[in-house]
Amino acid sequence: MRAVAEAVIASTDELTALDQAIGDGDHGLNMKRGFEAVLAELSNICESPLPIALQKAGMQLVMKVGGASGPLYGTLFIAFGKALPENPSRDDFVSQFAAAIDAVKARGKSEQGQKTMLDVLIPVHETLAAGGDLAAVREAATQAAQATVPMLATRGRASFLGERSIGHMDPGARSSEILILAVADQMESLA
Ligand code: ADP
Ligand code: MG
Repeated sequence: MRAVAEAVIASTDELTALDQAIGDGDHGLNMKRGFEAVLAELSNICESPLPIALQKAGMQLVMKVGGASGPLYGTLFIAFGKALPENPSRDDFVSQFAAAIDAVKARGKSEQGQKTMLDVLIPVHETLAAGGDLAAVREAATQAAQATVPMLATRGRASFLGERSIGHMDPGARSSEILILAVADQMESLA
């Protein structure tokens, strides 16, 4: 949890720059504010078992972040925690990640291909579901974020730009990549 928060906070300027290109420039600060709140609550969050800890972190994101990304990432964490057993198997992890993605879709009224965070989360889930290892997950996350560059935004603030959204990486796709790479780093260091 700490490593994920620190990775996001360290990327504030990069996420700001991406959102300045096709949004309103607040994605870096939104994510920083949310994950600083997670760090401030870390001991409370991490005294709980994993499913509850994820939900507590998600609540911080929902409560502390203005903008679309707070409720959406909050929903991702809360839904992920909700049905996860305390000691999840790989299969539990993969199926609950799918449930969390579905919750984001429902909350955002969004789907794959609209140039959002879903365009990273969904390919990463597919890679995991197909049995991919951590190297494959990293590769999928990075490629998927890059693949948002030529996409036309049809959801979120970037969609207001129409064709001018083409040619820039989606900020939420990049923050999802950062989150996933940070989780992969941690899992590698524990392996
Ligand atoms: P805001 O768009 O309110 O300024 P942020 O800048 O923090 O909020 O977050 C923008 C990111 O949120 C986008 O780059 C996109 O990835 C994601 N996003 C926005 N709307 C949606 C949606 N309806 N569904 C999924 N993701 C979305
Ligand atoms: Mg923004």
